[in-house]
Amino acid sequence: MKHLSVRYVSELDFKEKLAGLLEEYNKADYKSILFHVYSGVLDKDLVVGICQKIKASFDTDQIAGSISAGEIKNGRLMDRGVLISVMMFESAEVKLHRFSAATGKELEYGQEIKALADSTPDIKGLELMLPGTNLETKTLFEEISKCNKSIQVFGGYAGGHSMESSEHYVFDQNGLYSDLIFCITYAGADFHITVDKSVGWQTLGVPFKVTKADGNRLIEVDGRPAVELYEKYMQIEADENFAEETFEFPLMAELDGEELLRHTITVEDDGTLDLAGYVTEGMNIYLCYGAPADIVKKVDSRLIEVCDFKPQAILLYSCSVRKSFWEDFVNIEMLPFQQIAETAGFHTWGEVNRDKKNGNVLEYNITLMSIAMREGDPAPGKPLRVHVDDSVLKGQASLIKRLTKLVYATTTELHKAYTNVSKLNDQLQIIADHDGLTKLYNRRKTEQFIHECYDSVNESGNVAGLIMMDIDFFKKVNDTYGHAVGDQVLIKVSELMQEAISEVEGSCAGRWGGEEFMLLVPGCNESETFELAEKLRTSIEAADFGAAGHVTSSLGTITFRRNSDLMSVFTNLDKALYKAKKNGRNMTVKSES
Ligand code: GH3
Ligand code: MG
Ligand code: MG
Repeated sequence: MKHLSVRYVSELDFKEKLAGLLEEYNKADYKSILFHVYSGVLDKDLVVGICQKIKASFDTDQIAGSISAGEIKNGRLMDRGVLISVMMFESAEVKLHRFSAATGKELEYGQEIKALADSTPDIKGLELMLPGTNLETKTLFEEISKCNKSIQVFGGYAGGHSMESSEHYVFDQNGLYSDLIFCITYAGADFHITVDKSVGWQTLGVPFKVTKADGNRLIEVDGRPAVELYEKYMQIEADENFAEETFEFPLMAELDGEELLRHTITVEDDGTLDLAGYVTEGMNIYLCYGAPADIVKKVDSRLIEVCDFKPQAILLYSCSVRKSFWEDFVNIEMLPFQQIAETAGFHTWGEVNRDKKNGNVLEYNITLMSIAMREGDPAPGKPLRVHVDDSVLKGQASLIKRLTKLVYATTTELHKAYTNVSKLNDQLQIIADHDGLTKLYNRRKTEQFIHECYDSVNESGNVAGLIMMDIDFFKKVNDTYGHAVGDQVLIKVSELMQEAISEVEGSCAGRWGGEEFMLLVPGCNESETFELAEKLRTSIEAADFGAAGHVTSSLGTITFRRNSDLMSVFTNLDKALYKAKKNGRNMTVKSES
């Protein structure tokens, strides 16, 4: 295959360049041709005109255009130009399909694209060029994710140069669209492709929990307005410079073990952050920091893979945030790819890729995605070795490097401490809520459950039952067989209690004190509560307590409902149990009230 790219300068110049490309194309008997047009200029007539000229020269509809936040030609960033990349394939069948991206139809189009992918013989790659960030792509991607896992899915979102850009269009010879998806299938028995993304941003500090989110809008974090993350930890105020100031510190969201970076596009008055990419409630998010040395390291490790693959063409789809991050040094991470093969691409408003673990098609931010292609076997000989030349950074970077090293070291320690503390907290909570011997809830926690249940009963008008149980002549067990055997009886009785209530939703068993227990059974009326108590009583009576032989128990039951007086509920329950003891033990007494 052949990959060439030209920059549009003027009409006359373009005419000559097109003629040159056509000459090249006619040299061999190519099977497919594909044009990508990346434009940093939002000029409808210009970009549509360029596509029309391509169509007129090559008689092809295979032209996919995207508004770009930075065009990448031969591993270098172009300054707001129009870049035309052409790929000519000798044996691969490469086809451009257009899907209207009307909102509300995401499921349908996702299914269609999935079906297209799975019905294309020898398909290896599926490229999606999407119009900007307003599209609800989560559903679309979920459907596409169902396509054969061997298919490499990649692509990018269109968007203009400025952070406030609303120029999220794709285009071709027929027009400029905010509601069309270009979908390109790369197929062929002899066609090979490798896609991966490099990130390199590192998390800072402890995780926060997303407590309120809606698509790309991050509303609350740990119950507080999302903007406070930046105000509190970064001293970045919610003003017009917010997006610029925060892109160096994006958020990293965790989804099924995948790390999704999200930068802020705008901040709303109520403290909501509009992100490039979705977040979901319950996710952990971290503040992140980009350190040049770590970013370079990630790109270097991807370069080894691409070198080994020996591609004939490379597309680079890089996030616009990386461009802003590197500023004048942006080329250092792209140039080495050009040493391997002809490179073209653009800076995106979001990168599309499949996660390596589950094969889910996801929207990423802040990645440098490299798509390397080849027809036939790799060229013989040892693979090249190229790496990012970051010598230009040395002077500048040493201070940053040291500071970031300090941040990472302290962050790692902090993180470790945080994990330990949160583990200890979990353990402490268990200790605080449970009885050490029987592992049942302790009295404090049981009372809390009863009060919570009482509140919900008051709200719903439902009923709830309480069972109080006391082991009969337990002192005698201790006196006869010793305290240790007594303890074993308490443990076994507790297990029987758990068993007895296991089917009742929201139920709980607690140790009330000594050999006295309380069971809460929400939703059970008088007779159901009594039946449960009887079931427990007979199971205790029938059980074999080993050294202690057999024991019996006495129980009282009661129910409470809306407006019950909880104090008298407890008093009457106590009375019922007392009555059971007085009337001969090994029985259940139902309280009348
Ligand atoms: P009754 O049928 O009237 O309830 O008689 P009882 O012997 O069960 O009642 P009493 O209140 O006289 O005695 C309860 C005994 O429970 C006394 C106490 O030593 C014992 N006990 C309380 N907590 C524990 C414990 O954790 N382990 C053991 N082995 N015994 C305990
Ligand atoms: Mg007792
Ligand atoms: Mg007792």
